[in-house]
Amino acid sequence: MQEIRKKLKEVFGYDSFRGNQEPVIQNILAGRNTFVIMPTGAGKSMCYQMPAILRPGTAVVISPLIALMKNQVDQMNAVGINARFLNSTMSRTEINKLKKAVLAGDVKLLYVAPESLTKEENIEFLKQANISFAAIDEAHCISEWGHDFRPEYRRIKSIIDMLGDLPIIALTATATPKVQLDIQRNLQMESADVFKSSFNRENLYYEVRPKKSIKKQLIKFMRENKGKSGIIYCLSRKKVEEIANFLQVNGFSARPYHAGFDPDVRIKNQDDFLNEEVDVIVATIAFGMGIDKPDVRFVIHYDVPKSLEGYYQETGRAGRDGLEGQCIMFYSYSDILKLEKFNKDKPVTEKENSKILLDEMSFYAESTVCRRKQLLHYFGEEYDDTACKETGMCDNCRYQRETFEGKDFVKIAIEAVKQTDERFGLGHLVSVIRGSHNQYIKSYKHDKLPIFGAGAKEDESFWKSIVRQTMLYEFITKDIENIGVLKMSEKGYKFLKNPTSIKLSKDHDFSDVDADDDESNEPSAAQSAGQSFDPVLFDLLKAEQRKMAKQHNLPPYAIVQEPSLQEMATTYPTTKEALANVNGIGMGKVQKFGDSFLKLINKYVEDNDIDIEDVVVIKSSGAKSKNKIYIIQQIDRKIDLEEVAEVKGWSMEELLDEMEIICFSGTKLNLDYYLEQIMDDDFLSDIMDYFMNAESDDIQLALDEFADEDITSEDLRLIRIKFHSEHAN
Ligand code: ADP
Repeated sequence: MQEIRKKLKEVFGYDSFRGNQEPVIQNILAGRNTFVIMPTGAGKSMCYQMPAILRPGTAVVISPLIALMKNQVDQMNAVGINARFLNSTMSRTEINKLKKAVLAGDVKLLYVAPESLTKEENIEFLKQANISFAAIDEAHCISEWGHDFRPEYRRIKSIIDMLGDLPIIALTATATPKVQLDIQRNLQMESADVFKSSFNRENLYYEVRPKKSIKKQLIKFMRENKGKSGIIYCLSRKKVEEIANFLQVNGFSARPYHAGFDPDVRIKNQDDFLNEEVDVIVATIAFGMGIDKPDVRFVIHYDVPKSLEGYYQETGRAGRDGLEGQCIMFYSYSDILKLEKFNKDKPVTEKENSKILLDEMSFYAESTVCRRKQLLHYFGEEYDDTACKETGMCDNCRYQRETFEGKDFVKIAIEAVKQTDERFGLGHLVSVIRGSHNQYIKSYKHDKLPIFGAGAKEDESFWKSIVRQTMLYEFITKDIENIGVLKMSEKGYKFLKNPTSIKLSKDHDFSDVDADDDESNEPSAAQSAGQSFDPVLFDLLKAEQRKMAKQHNLPPYAIVQEPSLQEMATTYPTTKEALANVNGIGMGKVQKFGDSFLKLINKYVEDNDIDIEDVVVIKSSGAKSKNKIYIIQQIDRKIDLEEVAEVKGWSMEELLDEMEIICFSGTKLNLDYYLEQIMDDDFLSDIMDYFMNAESDDIQLALDEFADEDITSEDLRLIRIKFHSEHAN
């Protein structure tokens, strides 16, 4: 071992091995089959890299991701170890060169993609080489019960067998007991030595929040965590783009990432995140594989993930440096239903499998049991939640939950498993307990059991939760062989003999979280202002607007428009930046009229003790002109408006909409060059006079006023822009 540690220092520069690395390496060196389960970031690669360096011959490493393969090969070459890869992206010449090097015994590690491994000519070549052992990375891909099943993985063992009697090391960062068994069976290594590290990540804080007013919650969270590095996961590419845009509009440094972008854009966004040019990456799950950024401070799941394995992997990217890592998931049951719908066309077994994974997901979200206990239980680890309770490192441990004495309920749940001979799953057990008279129950004569109907008073979701909690406390366990079936445990038998007091907790009630309680009915600032502004402040602002109008000799609407006043009375902007963020007000207007409004709002906030930190301002991206720069440039260059519209494929109406957004947010647009061409000066100044003296700048009223003249509403809108640009901005 002395020798090996010397090598560790010499090649990698590390002083000591981590966790199970040392016994794992020894095991492989002794030629034994080895199964390694280690959380992401714990250092799995070292487990096969070191024996590859030490054993004579070439180690074959099977790895599913070509990009990661290249990374690893580069890293090994950088420390002077000859590693190569073999995959489908290579040319014939490259492959021939590689084969020569391997056959000459020059290569220590050969990374192979599973689909290349199954090719006849590659098998022939590997047969001739001196292979030291086979490593199977991401071994959970073997199992259909995992979250990343790859059929080619199922052929690996038969191919390795063709290469001789090689020791195998299988590695994964995610394996439920079921998946673990599947891997060992498929690789015919049931008697392999298993090295399983704890999956507990003590520094991660887990929380599930109802997916309600989600944008508001998101902005509030982002404000509280401004400047920190984070990942926000969404399910669809569309959502990724929308949320990244939404965050940008609201002043946060965020970029989107999904597989649909050009590689250039993807790489740039990823690199900018890694190099801290941007704080937040909004991504589909395509992002993160192989990303080793140590200081990710939060991982948010905007949508419910498809499985707890996936969830655990993704949250695992937070706090790799052992410091703060917040993992927040937004949950609504309708997200689960949506995901079920996506699975509709899948083959039956796959569909059932996905459904079981989703059920686990929703149970996790709705349960009030310690999150850590649940997650670790899922990966087959028993966890005493005292530590989490003391430190409050999950929402269920941090906040007081309603508990009740569960002794009698637990007894019923265990009895139900026992009396039905340990052959049924959650749904059926609950039906038996509740005394449902369905066909299934009749055919098994379960309506004759003493336990039948013992829990008829409580509803289905109550009993589902009881059975789940009975599982979490290990009184009953999952049957690994038969998915979905629940069995008795030693602990369960003991409990039946001598029942003791046990505290259970009520599930969270997510029933009022609506299917589409997201952006679609999220009021924009202006809308919400319309519904719920502060009427007292609004009246004060209105009075101020009138006062200023008199001072400047302008109509009140030229100072600020009413919807903007309403928004101010909702969001309480107390700084120039915040005021400029209000729809219809830009920096231009703030400079011109902002001071007295700000003074008024600041005084009001102070007098009335309003905590503006609690007031979450949301700007919807719709209110900003997407083409602001283009339009301003064209107008500066005095380009005909018809031409400006045509280049973009807009109607004049659409161009006017965009120009109004720009102008009403306080930017001057000088349209004189255009207006000169379309009307005579006298008429123009008549209309300007009209706007100066009118009560409102409503276009219909202006049209009525000039009904006898030859003027269109488009012309009037242009003049209104001129008016606002000259007097209001
Ligand atoms: P995994 O594959 O388990 O996610 P990696 O193999 O990528 O993890 O290793 C994670 C990081 O830990 C890498 O940066 C690696 O260089 C580092 N590492 C591995 N073993 C050691 C060790 N014994 N001492 C210090 N750092 C190590």
